[in-house]
Amino acid sequence: KMHNRIQELRGNIRVFVRTRPFLPGDGDSDTTKSAVDVSADATSLSVYDKTGKADNNFQFDKAFAPSMGQEQVFEEVSEFVQSALDGFHVCLFSYGQTGSGKTHTMQGSGNGAMRGIIPRAVEQILEQADLLQKYRMTASFLEIYNEDLRDLLVNMKPDGSASTQKGQPANAPKLGIKRDSDGKSFVENLNAITIDTTDASLGLQQLEAVMDSAARTRSVACTNMNAQSSRSHSVFMLHLHGYNDETGTTISGALNLCDLAGSERLDRSGAGADAKRLKETQAINKSLSCLGDVFNGLASKASHVPYRNSKLTYLLQDCLSGDGKSLMFVNLSPTMESAHESLCSLRFAQRVS
Ligand code: ADP
Ligand code: MG
Repeated sequence: KMHNRIQELRGNIRVFVRTRPFLPGDGDSDTTKSAVDVSADATSLSVYDKTGKADNNFQFDKAFAPSMGQEQVFEEVSEFVQSALDGFHVCLFSYGQTGSGKTHTMQGSGNGAMRGIIPRAVEQILEQADLLQKYRMTASFLEIYNEDLRDLLVNMKPDGSASTQKGQPANAPKLGIKRDSDGKSFVENLNAITIDTTDASLGLQQLEAVMDSAARTRSVACTNMNAQSSRSHSVFMLHLHGYNDETGTTISGALNLCDLAGSERLDRSGAGADAKRLKETQAINKSLSCLGDVFNGLASKASHVPYRNSKLTYLLQDCLSGDGKSLMFVNLSPTMESAHESLCSLRFAQRVS
């Protein structure tokens, strides 16, 4: 009953919490003591600190234990993917501190069992060949860094062929968020690569070229790629345009898969941070708190929801408002050292309800 009430209050926003397993890189942490304990019914969890003190009973739509693999997680989001084909504007976010599994959840790695939501979503769509006869699908990929938009596919030609160029070209066009005649948001000058919807294997090859080109465009900006990517939000976008014979109407849906910047509070005092780092931190804090404000405004049915306060919320307004659909993954690390950040992430997510 309580759970239903939470869902009702949340309206169109769902929250799934995913705790990753211990990894060799967790170093000295005691791998027998997880800071996160997921309930047997997979909807609530508790966080423990080193002294064994617990913060109990965080309730969410779903809580995935570390043993839940990529395929099982995808099963729980496949209906969101499907609703983009029905004309909804859908956004999946991954939120959490750096190293908690956001990129693993969204993108994953390789072509096998470890692949994440982006390739699985494209596969799911391409599997529906009969339906897709009537659809046109394009992929875009951008990043928001210090409140500036950057096209990660700037080095691709519209026909999907990629140049070997790395990084952002000096003459890259300025990207701005605009509204079309239907009031839907779009990014001016953003590259959109057509994905073939009549030939699944060709479509998947095109997706691979898209992901490769995005990684190359991103890579030279910083010597440490993980450090760089954790300081920006990335948004992978699929646009689906179709025609429904039965109703004689056009369908225009979108699926946005957003890997958010690391939520950890760095250099709160500003001490020891260089100017560049401080600017990044301020931009991240501001845009994540704007996202929290928008979630909060929606959950409390506020008359004014402050979408325009950040690029991220303005860009994704169609998914966050009205008949859009949003789902946020809160990614957690199981280590005791991360317990404080894990609590911060869970409290952020609670503002949704
Ligand atoms: P983030 O994007 O939040 O900084 P990553 O997704 O890069 O974190 O994850 C950090 C490391 O942990 C990566 O090496 C990733 O492959 C691994 N990892 C994350 N989640 C899982 C998981 N559920 N199962 C196995 N490995 C994982
Ligand atoms: Mg990442």
